[in-house]
Amino acid sequence: LSPVPSDIEISRGQSPKAVDVLAKEIGLLADEIEIYGQTKAKVRLSLLERLKDQTDGKYVLVAGITPTPLGEGKSTVTIGLVQALTAHLNVNSFACLRQPSQGPTFGVKGGAAGGGYAQVIPMEEFNLHLTGDIHAITAANNLLAAAVDARILHESTQSDKALYNRLVPVVNGVREFSSIQLARLKRLGINKTDPGTLTADEINKFVRLDIDPSTITWQRVLDTNDRFLRKITIGQANTEKGFFRQAQFDIAVASEIMAILALTTSLADMKERLGKMVVANDKNGQPVTAEDLVFSSFLWLLYYLGCKFSFCIFQGTPVFVHAGPFANIAHGNSSVLADKIALKLVGEEGFVVTEAGFGADIGMEKFFNIKCRASGLVPSVVVLVATVRALKMHGGGPNVTAGAPLKKEYTEENLQLVADGCCNLQKQIQIAQLFGVPVVVALNVFKTDAHAEVDLVCEIAKQSGAFDAVPCNHWSAGGRGAVELAQAVRKAASQENHFKYLYNLELPIIEKIRIIAQKVYGAEDIELSPAAQSQISRYSKQGFGNLPICMAKTHLSLSHQPERKGVPTGFILPISDVRASIGAGFIYPLVGTMSTMPGLPTRPCFYDIDLDPDTEQVKGLF
Ligand code: ADP
Repeated sequence: LSPVPSDIEISRGQSPKAVDVLAKEIGLLADEIEIYGQTKAKVRLSLLERLKDQTDGKYVLVAGITPTPLGEGKSTVTIGLVQALTAHLNVNSFACLRQPSQGPTFGVKGGAAGGGYAQVIPMEEFNLHLTGDIHAITAANNLLAAAVDARILHESTQSDKALYNRLVPVVNGVREFSSIQLARLKRLGINKTDPGTLTADEINKFVRLDIDPSTITWQRVLDTNDRFLRKITIGQANTEKGFFRQAQFDIAVASEIMAILALTTSLADMKERLGKMVVANDKNGQPVTAEDLVFSSFLWLLYYLGCKFSFCIFQGTPVFVHAGPFANIAHGNSSVLADKIALKLVGEEGFVVTEAGFGADIGMEKFFNIKCRASGLVPSVVVLVATVRALKMHGGGPNVTAGAPLKKEYTEENLQLVADGCCNLQKQIQIAQLFGVPVVVALNVFKTDAHAEVDLVCEIAKQSGAFDAVPCNHWSAGGRGAVELAQAVRKAASQENHFKYLYNLELPIIEKIRIIAQKVYGAEDIELSPAAQSQISRYSKQGFGNLPICMAKTHLSLSHQPERKGVPTGFILPISDVRASIGAGFIYPLVGTMSTMPGLPTRPCFYDIDLDPDTEQVKGLF
């Protein structure tokens, strides 16, 4: 329709295929899915085992140039491309997307279902938590946070003997260690299995984690943009006997458990990663892990009951929606498991299309260096999304702000601004080429774009080394508008693959950070704060030096300064601090300060959202 109706009107206008019918069509067996309502199901991991001999399909990553704060359409391109492949080229294909957080949904940015005629439906369910993965993660995360503080309280108020009697109680006349306790004893170098034989010293070592409260890094989480929880004091009731301390809440998707969910390759691997999560240091500076709190099995159980993985559909095409980690302090990609299953389901000639958060300098770099390393999967093609509006901004156009009308530079033809801004596109193409993967540029066309502007971008992209560059009209025309893109992607995927990682894991942490800063961002060098330096030497000593790097940097510039557009040069990248997600398996340097709990704007998206009591339908959702 023209003009294109609102996203929710389009979503409502479609009748999604019943999920059981779709599941059958894509080859799932009845006992491999758990159905939730008419349009959603969770998939069992046994599927992966059944399909283990099936050859994988082609693996396509959708990334973008440095965006405006409005987003340039990576999600719509992901969906439009899959619609075009499935419905117009008759190729089996799957989209694998992140589960959106309610933070942006109710805050500034809105949903993440794509938009126009290229979106996941039913979009309200997709945007409003689908099958509850985020709730399960929140519950598991907060149980661990509660366990950390409770343990500090119990250790400080009880003798070794009292703690031992409670931690290893006599049940039916027998005192026995659990398997996790036995593993802890082994880590402590105490090779005993009979609780009656431990010496007083050994009991002391076993029962005392000696957590240093000032080093606790495990935070409570909530999936709400509540800025007043950025710094809080906990434990102020008299019952906590003066054990109050400063703490904070992060948005739920910033939980390390979410990052683990996205990177894990099996349930056994997930259990191991959950156990390795570091929650604090002890008073000797040694890491205290979830496993030390005898906690990984609980986390795993809670998580397992809450989330397998979700699956929903649009235009008769399946999409896996699984995991949604933050794109700054985490890697910002959906799950390895969903990609792996989808690659089996589509078969050798099929395509799986997934998306990397932020611009290619961040999302794509992490997708290759962190996610592909965890999965062992090899990407076939990068689709790099560009818009005329973002390129004009990089060419010197005025600031683009969410909620404000676009200035005339963006609504009238201006070839000079476009040409000047293509430096950012060129640089992002070069970044993708560092990894040896062919790039297809998808120019996401807006109704204000002039033909000459669109042609110019495609021309420059091809001259800059892109395998192909095509205009896409999926937002206004659905899959039909992305047929040219689908054809280009299919061609690019048949090229020989030269995929490689950017750095060796064995390099020192500082060297790995420097390689990303110089080769990807174009920095002259890096500058480490004293805090960053001491964290790096601590992690190296603790044996975590061989992990990949997950940079937490602004997505609004290739540099650390969001106002510097185009291709900034001559800058030194400042690393203010370095932290680690040991269970997820990466070190994350902070480039400047990073908020892990967003706030609400004066007029948040929820102002427009309502429920119609007559139709029982959600209104006003974008
Ligand atoms: P990203 O994934 O890059 O953040 P999205 O795909 O979520 O971007 O798109 C951002 C917003 O812009 C969404 O509201 C989407 O509906 C809208 N949008 C995307 N492409 C177009 C287009 N070609 N015309 C109009 N609006 C668009």
